[in-house]
Amino acid sequence: MFTVKEIMEITAGELLAGDQNTVITSVHFDSRQIKEGALFVALTSGARDGHDFLVNAAAGGAVAAFVSDRAKALSAGLPSTFALICVKDTEKAFQQIARIYRNRLTIPIAAITGSNGKTTTKDILAHLLSGQKKVYKTYKNFNNHLGVPLSLLQITPDTEAAVLELGMNHAGEIDFLAGIVRPTYSVITNVNDAHMEFFESKEMIAKAKGEILGHTDPDGFACLNQDNELVANLAHLNPGKTYFYHVQRAGEKSCTADITASNLSFDENGSRFVVTMNGGEPFECFMPLFGEHNISNALPAIFIAMHLGISRDEIIKQLATLTISAMRFERLEGANGLLVINDAYNASPSSMVASVETFLSIYPDRKKVLILGDMFELGAQSEAYHHEVGKKLKELDKEFELVAIGKDAKHLAKGYGPEARYFVDKDEAAAYLERFKSNNYAVLLKASRGMHLETLLDILC
Ligand code: ATP
Ligand code: MG
Repeated sequence: MFTVKEIMEITAGELLAGDQNTVITSVHFDSRQIKEGALFVALTSGARDGHDFLVNAAAGGAVAAFVSDRAKALSAGLPSTFALICVKDTEKAFQQIARIYRNRLTIPIAAITGSNGKTTTKDILAHLLSGQKKVYKTYKNFNNHLGVPLSLLQITPDTEAAVLELGMNHAGEIDFLAGIVRPTYSVITNVNDAHMEFFESKEMIAKAKGEILGHTDPDGFACLNQDNELVANLAHLNPGKTYFYHVQRAGEKSCTADITASNLSFDENGSRFVVTMNGGEPFECFMPLFGEHNISNALPAIFIAMHLGISRDEIIKQLATLTISAMRFERLEGANGLLVINDAYNASPSSMVASVETFLSIYPDRKKVLILGDMFELGAQSEAYHHEVGKKLKELDKEFELVAIGKDAKHLAKGYGPEARYFVDKDEAAAYLERFKSNNYAVLLKASRGMHLETLLDILC
């Protein structure tokens, strides 16, 4: 990847020990993930000082490190051949080398941002490509100022395409990340109420997501969700080509988008839909993912994959063999016959309502129970958001039992009405939940990650 000398030039680093001709073959900031020939980045922003792990990194095979604490590094007791590169800010140096490394890559890179659906879209696109190309995709949810540079640096020379997820909580963050990634193709899945804590309005969130467009390769394109007005309105920020995707609901008149899904149907195995791209011959797809929102996530992935030469038949085949990530509408069956849909990976008001609507549309033979917990990061309006979700669930006018758990979920219960059961925490709810342990019921778990609603599975199943 680099020699120590090159790295010193890029980062204005000073060599404290070791040889500048040392060759670096990988980079990591987690000493447990270090491979032979690696550069270890001693970060100082986390709970633990990375300088305390220099020896572990060396033992794991690291041959060099970025350090900022000269005294600590020199007294760590490292082998004399170990190259210590002293920089002012190790995090910045790490980002700088990721930027330079990216500039050397000539493969197509797709970058995905949005309030929800980033990981799902990333996973779908990578899977569509993976039958024909060697693909690198963001590991899990490594989508921030550390995860994105790390992802770029993990791309090996034999990689043929990369799919990266870009996340943000504040304005300017996507600008920074996309500036490093310089995507060939960019996708904005949607803008909604996730992360409201840090923004005054949804328009401001949209603008922050739109920062990706100015960094998108003018010879590539952006793929925007036409069904989300805030996203669709960002097109003017894109100096290059923009394509739109659209999910056509039942009864809706057809409209113009570059790729459209229509004739949606769901059963307990997944979703079926018909894809029409660029007005061409429609083709039917099945995927073992649930909900209209996931069909929406599949569309930009299909569009980009087809643009990269993946055939229609291959798309159909790969969609059918997708695997569902844990806790994203994951279906589990208890020994007692109870069916649980665990969608407790995360939640925002719109994703909670979307999840409930999907859940209620399948398993017609079972009584439905919604176990809904607090949604975090909603800022000053959090109580109002929870109340609004409760109200929307009431308006669905469907049969189910609602169990709300958590501090703010109280307002969700209130918004729904007196039939809702409310518990301040999971322990308090436990005894009540016992009654659902039979094959009469299907239960949906949905809340923000921090609620750890999945721990209820021990009680339920
Ligand atoms: P994070 O910000 O945590 O990285 P993400 O954007 O990567 O989230 P996913 O992990 O793909 O999102 O999905 C998280 C949850 O968001 C899902 O369980 C689902 O409920 C909801 N979701 C996914 N896609 C959409 C969508 N297109 N519209 C609305 N909600 C969605
Ligand atoms: Mg994610």
